[in-house]
Amino acid sequence: MEISGRTGLLGLIGSPVGHSGSPAMYNYSFEILDLDYKYLAFDIPVEKTEDAVNAFRTFNMKGGNVTMPCKGEVAKYMDELSPASRIIGACNTIINKDGKLIGDITDGKGYVRNLKENGVDINGKKMTIMGAGGAATAIQVQAALDGAREISIFNKKDAFFEKAQKTVESIKKEVPDCVVNLFDIDDTEKLYAEIATSDILTNATLIGMKPHDNETNIKDTSVFRKDLVVTDVVYNPIKTKMILDAEEAGCKVIGGKGMLLYQGVEAFKLFMGCEMPVEKVKAKYY
Ligand code: NAD
Repeated sequence: MEISGRTGLLGLIGSPVGHSGSPAMYNYSFEILDLDYKYLAFDIPVEKTEDAVNAFRTFNMKGGNVTMPCKGEVAKYMDELSPASRIIGACNTIINKDGKLIGDITDGKGYVRNLKENGVDINGKKMTIMGAGGAATAIQVQAALDGAREISIFNKKDAFFEKAQKTVESIKKEVPDCVVNLFDIDDTEKLYAEIATSDILTNATLIGMKPHDNETNIKDTSVFRKDLVVTDVVYNPIKTKMILDAEEAGCKVIGGKGMLLYQGVEAFKLFMGCEMPVEKVKAKYY
């Protein structure tokens, strides 16, 4: 589609952005849906986040995405935040609603949607989740907002443990119906006991991702019951050691690639107001 005087603009901000697949995926979607928009990536250091948000306003940009290191900073300059963004204090999506900039975060929405696409509904379920970083926090908050009955978080006693304590407090305050607890991941007895009463087990740590691809947080594979859904946010490799072990034990397994796709699909729906042509995008880029 040719660029005209009416072509609308969307964009990604953060640094680095050169490796991002978002421009290709979104521009391909605009072409398929015959939407007169273009999506570009802008390399923005964190100290220029406010300027970048002002540019969104000045150019009346339709929306866009935010990556590191701007995800937290950008939340300060939005006119409104989604419940998940408010709880987490970060945004990866900007939506321009009649000149009002709304910040949202779709990592958790992408995770939940990926489960749904694989026939798993989080509503009413108990989840054990390992990790307390960016991906883990987004999943924990979205799972609570989407009706998870109980969430048991396990993490190392590193800098992320304190972040997890804050997430637990926020979920307790914002979603009081959801039971949420935090444990030390090195307490394997407790980890296995929580998995035994869970419907879903999720890895959202760096374990399983290259160069940790021969590692897993679950050393005792007898915890993999057939009715346990085992999910990983790591998508490189496509199947982590944990996923391979769980698959061999007969569990339903869901890898991280779908979450990556669906966080983009959810963002597209938010800023464009329609569904991305998922199957075509999947066939071309995933
Ligand atoms: P992060 O740096 O914010 O968090 C890292 C997490 O790993 C923390 O919980 C930390 O305690 C834990 N960790 C680090 N070393 C560990 C070890 N030796 N043993 C146990 N735990 C350890 O990272 P992030 O942005 O949350 O990313 C985590 C993973 O999720 C990465 O593999 C990333 O590629 C993946 N990810 C996937 C998607 C997706 O769409 N599928 C989105 C975001 C991130």
